[in-house]
Amino acid sequence: MQVFFSSLKADESHIYLQTKELYLCRMETKLFDSIIFGPIKSRRLGVSLGINLLPTNSKLCNFDCIYCECGWTDLKKAPKFKFHSRKEIKEALEYKLQHLLNQKEKLCSITFAGNGEPTLHPEFEEIINDTIELRDKYYPNSKISVLSNSLMLNNSKVVSALKKVDKRILKLDAGTEALFQKIDQPLNNRTLEWVVYHLNQFNGDLTIQTMFLKGVHKAQPIDNTTDYEVDSWLELLKIIKPKEVMLYSLDRPTPETNLEKISFEKLQEIGKKVEQLGIKTLIY
Ligand code: SF4
Repeated sequence: MQVFFSSLKADESHIYLQTKELYLCRMETKLFDSIIFGPIKSRRLGVSLGINLLPTNSKLCNFDCIYCECGWTDLKKAPKFKFHSRKEIKEALEYKLQHLLNQKEKLCSITFAGNGEPTLHPEFEEIINDTIELRDKYYPNSKISVLSNSLMLNNSKVVSALKKVDKRILKLDAGTEALFQKIDQPLNNRTLEWVVYHLNQFNGDLTIQTMFLKGVHKAQPIDNTTDYEVDSWLELLKIIKPKEVMLYSLDRPTPETNLEKISFEKLQEIGKKVEQLGIKTLIY
């Protein structure tokens, strides 16, 4: 079991899309104001250059996680979104990679994250293809990683793209349906069973990331660290068989303020149970 400590940070700048799958929230803080950000020293990925495919300064996601550092997802502001175009993204990434190479900077990872769910971008697969091309040209030893909530895994192009990258880091925050709905609040009627079924498309070649927390939301108690919840979550890991599991707890302000960080000792205790399944465990 490996244990890590550290932090993050943010650089540049659009396709209109209107669809019931997408939801928007505009916040004044905690949002990336550029396509490319960093590089940053990532707790999980080393020196990492971030790519934000979502609208600049707006959150766009099909989850509404109670702990999301980008704030609440706001359906009322949903009708129109302006994505960065594939061309803009490729140009911004190439410019930054050239600059980093000229400066002789080290780069471990090119990471898709940002203001929401990256796989919602309508040209996600094409952008992944461009990124692989540029990575091979400028930093052939760096890895391409995608942080995703898994809710677009019924889209064959998204799955195809995720299979091309080096690291798929996919969210699984609960072992029971009730808690999944309370913590992640999917906005398109997705169920935990649906998520697990679609995660199995990777035949275990994926990383699971789980946020552990407890508190209260809408007057309902939330705690995914109880024995029952952890055991249920472990049962899902047995089905998914991920290569590794990343455990973490709160590190930044959350939209639901009645939440508390889980102790390092508790994360270690949960991590030991994951390792007993023969799965590599990383704690942040
Ligand atoms: S999936 Fe990620 S971006 Fe979307 S609401 Fe949850 S934490 Fe925020």
